[in-house]
Amino acid sequence: MRFNTACRASALFLSAVLSASCATQPASQNAQLELELFVSEPDEINVVSALIIGPTEMMVVSAQGTKSAANRLADRIEETDRTLRYIFLTHPHFDHHQGASVLKARFPMARFVASPDVARLQRVRAPMDDEQSRARLGANAAVPYVLAEDYPADTIEIDGVPIELWRGIIGDAGLGYPDEPHTALYIPSLNALLPSDAVYHDAHVFLGGSSRESRMIWSAQLEGWLAREFEIVVPGHMAKTSLETLSPEVALSHTRNYIATYEAVLAESETSDQLIAAMIEKYPDIRHRQGLYLGAFFDFFEFRSMLIDKAGNVAAGPGPASPQEAEAQRRQFEAVRRAYNPPDRSDRESQAVDCCGTPRSSLSYAAMQRFLPASLAA
Ligand SMILES: [Zn+2]
Repeated sequence: MRFNTACRASALFLSAVLSASCATQPASQNAQLELELFVSEPDEINVVSALIIGPTEMMVVSAQGTKSAANRLADRIEETDRTLRYIFLTHPHFDHHQGASVLKARFPMARFVASPDVARLQRVRAPMDDEQSRARLGANAAVPYVLAEDYPADTIEIDGVPIELWRGIIGDAGLGYPDEPHTALYIPSLNALLPSDAVYHDAHVFLGGSSRESRMIWSAQLEGWLAREFEIVVPGHMAKTSLETLSPEVALSHTRNYIATYEAVLAESETSDQLIAAMIEKYPDIRHRQGLYLGAFFDFFEFRSMLIDKAGNVAAGPGPASPQEAEAQRRQFEAVRRAYNPPDRSDRESQAVDCCGTPRSSLSYAAMQRFLPASLAA
């Protein structure tokens, strides 16, 4: 793995994690790729963007979710002095796509791309994401959105070096689409996996959009990745301060263990407040509590507000005060769930909702087959 000379100056470089020494010259003859991480701070969400840098070209994976973070990312891209060829969207969540509006404005020649299944979902969700971000972030909302173009190929190249695109990966899911498709990137020359929000490091994992079945597949996928012995795994979310402890093993097992803990705690919780309190007791020091709160509200079909102070501390707004209010929230929840997904998916999902509003799995048999051990998939 090669690093450019600037890596000494920044704790954000992966070299800091791997304790590798820096080469004095960037690779230029046999194009070698370098990898650099940008973690948004101050920001409780802590989105990780990956910069894949070649001798003359580069691409960025995840565009950040706020105007300020995307502008800082754009500054860093400019400093690399490479041509930004692609802005890659791994999954259509606001914290990974909205910053593309800033990046496209600063680098108009860069292509904003996603696998067709991801791009399709972004087209449906982007207007609602804009609305929510305007309400939540005010002037710092990176709006209006730009749409990713379909990128159907299995590889993408930077300076002629191929990067594999693994489509249909299971990770954190938006409302109403447990098996929402993510695209992971794999750089063979670095043995590096960029699974975005299928892996979190030292952070609460957003699990409310998932189902038991999708979490089972997700865990099996993580087990498979643990066995692959990647050199590098880049999580979708982590605190900048956690770079020192980042390793493929630690990040993959944190995510797998967190999912198992959440599943056990959820089974014993009667309210979202109980679920949140128990998870914070088990993970008192990790970041991204917004993901935990929102996920817990989703799991109990609630439309509660989240109160976030300037330091990033999170608290839950009041829960439903009566059974009638709980029912009204559940109806509202269902309406948003329909609006947030393509019509074919909403129809299929709504048929799979039982009398009490509990969504059943909509996972395809093919997806199950792909990741589950044969004994479970049968
Ligand atoms: Zn995310």
